[in-house]
Amino acid sequence: MPIDATQPYDDSNIFAKIVRGELPCTKVDETEHSLAFHDINPLAPIHILVIPKGPYVSWDDFSAKATEAEIVDFTRLVGKVARDNGCVEQGYRMLANIGKRGGQEVPHLHVHIFGGQPLGPMLA
Ligand code: 5GP
Repeated sequence: MPIDATQPYDDSNIFAKIVRGELPCTKVDETEHSLAFHDINPLAPIHILVIPKGPYVSWDDFSAKATEAEIVDFTRLVGKVARDNGCVEQGYRMLANIGKRGGQEVPHLHVHIFGGQPLGPMLA
C-alpha cells in the first residue's frame, strides 16, 4: 500500500531498522551518511536500493532538510554503485517512488538502481 509521504518520519520503518542493524540486508556499499543494499524482491538482474541513513521520507523532504554533506554523500554513492556494479556501459535506470501516487511503499527515501537487462520505457 503506497504511503503518504507528507507524514512525519516514522523510525519504525523497515529501512530505519536496516540502518540501525536491527534487520539484515545484503550490503553493497556504505558511507558515513548513506547505505546501498540489494532489493529483497529484485525486478531486474541488478536491483540495488540506495538510502540516506538520516530520517527522510521523500526527495522533497531530503533536499530541504539534509545537510550538504548528506546530499553530496548520497548523490556520490548512487553514482558509485552504478559504476561499481557494471551498470554504466549498458545503461541503467535510477528511480525514486514518492508518496501515494508515486507508489512509495517504504516511508524512508530510497533510490532504486536497475540494470543488467534492457529496461524498456518504464518498469511496471
Ligand atoms: P518502493 O515501492 O517503496 O519504492 O519500494 C520499496 C522496495 O523495498 C521494494 O522494491 C521492496 O522489494 C523493497 N523491500 C521491502 N522490504 C525490504 C527489506 O526488508 N529488505 C530489502 N532489502 N528490500 C526490501
